[in-house]
Amino acid sequence: MNLITLDFAADQGTHDGCDHAAHDRVAHDNAVRHHASAAKPPVPEQVQEAIRTLLRFAGEDPSREGLIDTPARVGRAWLEYCQGYREDPSVHLTRTFEEVGGYDEIVLLRDIPFQSHCEHHMAPITGKASIAYLPHNRVVGISKLARVLHGYARRLQVQERLTAQVAQCIWDHLQPQGVAVVIEAQHGCMTARGVCTPGVGMVTSRMLGCFLNDASSRREVMSLMGRS
Ligand SMILES: [Zn+2]
Repeated sequence: MNLITLDFAADQGTHDGCDHAAHDRVAHDNAVRHHASAAKPPVPEQVQEAIRTLLRFAGEDPSREGLIDTPARVGRAWLEYCQGYREDPSVHLTRTFEEVGGYDEIVLLRDIPFQSHCEHHMAPITGKASIAYLPHNRVVGISKLARVLHGYARRLQVQERLTAQVAQCIWDHLQPQGVAVVIEAQHGCMTARGVCTPGVGMVTSRMLGCFLNDASSRREVMSLMGRS
């Protein structure tokens, strides 16, 4: 069958085969340029004091040398982790293409790595998402699906809501025949504390339209995602 699929794991593989020295040089140049142009956002004193309070509560001495700049760093890191609050993920779906050459099969972006944080412990959630839709006359640039995912992931989340929000956003803005989102993730609050069980992945899925209502469509998309 016909299928547009972009496999992030495979993509990563070819990347590894490239000239590492050249790659590192480019990364380094980009980092230097980024450093020079991007001023660090200020972290208000009361935010830094809150982090010092947390350090004391955890048993640390926030005045020791290694921790002096930590409160400001943590503040800036949280601005990045929660960058999604300052964007509307649906903007990535506004530019669509109607000329799809009669293509009317499933479009799938598979195994997109993402990071989020759980709203219960503010602990990291790391995982992979597979996002598919069956177009109805229009498609988006395929990287936009990953951008929608990151827009919702860079917030405090529960995995169930993240899965539902990504699916709903695509459903509302592309009006496709169906949407399927499957997320598998590990939760820092389970692996590093509490029951301390590393290696356990939680899987959530949201199906809409034909993938919800038609068993054979659902089987097909799940099999393309490698989940049948
Ligand atoms: Zn948690």
